[in-house]
Amino acid sequence: MMKFKYFKPHTIDEISELKSKYDAKLLSGGTDLMVKMRAKVCKPEIIIDTKGLEKKEIEFKDGKVVIPINTTYSDLTENKEFIKKYPMIVEIINKIGSPQIRNRATPIGNIANASPAGDFLLAAYLFRGYAEIKPSNKKIKISKLVTGPGKIALKPEEFINSIELRDRSEYKYYYEKVGKRNAMNISVISIGVLLKLDNGIIDDIKIAYGSVGPTVMRFKDVEKEMIGKSFSKETFERFGEIYMKNINPITDVRATAEYRKKMVKNLLVKAYYNFNREG
Ligand SMILES: Cc1cc2nc3c(=O)[nH]c(=O)nc-3n(C[C@H](O)[C@H](O)[C@H](O)COP(=O)(O)OP(=O)(O)OC[C@H]3O[C@@H](n4cnc5c(N)ncnc54)[C@H](O)[C@@H]3O)c2cc1C
Repeated sequence: MMKFKYFKPHTIDEISELKSKYDAKLLSGGTDLMVKMRAKVCKPEIIIDTKGLEKKEIEFKDGKVVIPINTTYSDLTENKEFIKKYPMIVEIINKIGSPQIRNRATPIGNIANASPAGDFLLAAYLFRGYAEIKPSNKKIKISKLVTGPGKIALKPEEFINSIELRDRSEYKYYYEKVGKRNAMNISVISIGVLLKLDNGIIDDIKIAYGSVGPTVMRFKDVEKEMIGKSFSKETFERFGEIYMKNINPITDVRATAEYRKKMVKNLLVKAYYNFNREG
């Protein structure tokens, strides 16, 4: 039987105090935490339910969206402005778990869980995600906050109070998640690409891979090299080779390293075909 104490505080200070005093875990949707606790890979002394905090609205300001603590995936996919401005993320969310999971689970939980297969985490890497940390009020780039599989750089008293993502609605996008089944499974490999073209030339591109390294993988130097190149199959094939060289996935129960490496290139070329078809 699991033994832990359960708290549901109503203020940021209470959460922070409890978190610094005990071996504590925050519980938002609980869809990652409960699985880990049942598997006994996580045995906290206390659980702090974040849902005691007042639920705030999703806000759109200064070309960003601010997603507060306790916002669920369903809150985002039911928000008209979010659907309009972040269609790629809506597509990503719709491939996470099941409707029941999406009604409970939160994007912040996905980021704090720091899984290299975390689908929302991949979005945060592409949309220049920042996390607002309490009680210090500092803002940390999410790609810096995540330091390894399951690891985030937070002090004992700290937690994520909101996240913000840049508006990238002027980009074309491509997202694919390869798994044994689409949603209820952890991906074998995933890719997200944001692309801006100018007369057949790559004006800007952002590429992130999931499940092929210790965290979501993005290589800004390679992206920079792609800028100014022609939007062609040859370019995407050539850069697919470069990504294959840069990424060294592991073999696990879901797929071999060789398969994942091949898919790194294949998915980028597939992204090209999709963008090309869209025109
Ligand atoms: C059946 C099933 C299918 C799933 N499918 C997918 C999938 O397709 N893709 C995918 O990416 N994930 C999937 N997941 C995993 C999970 O649903 C997501 O990662 C979800 O976003 C986690 O959010 P949560 O609110 O439930 O997190 P929780 O379980 O509440 O928390 C996750 C971790 O984050 C910590 N935490 C929570 N809130 C905070 C905070 N504010 N500050 C600091 N730390 C915090 C917790 O202590 C815990 O360590 C699936 C899970 C299940 C059970």
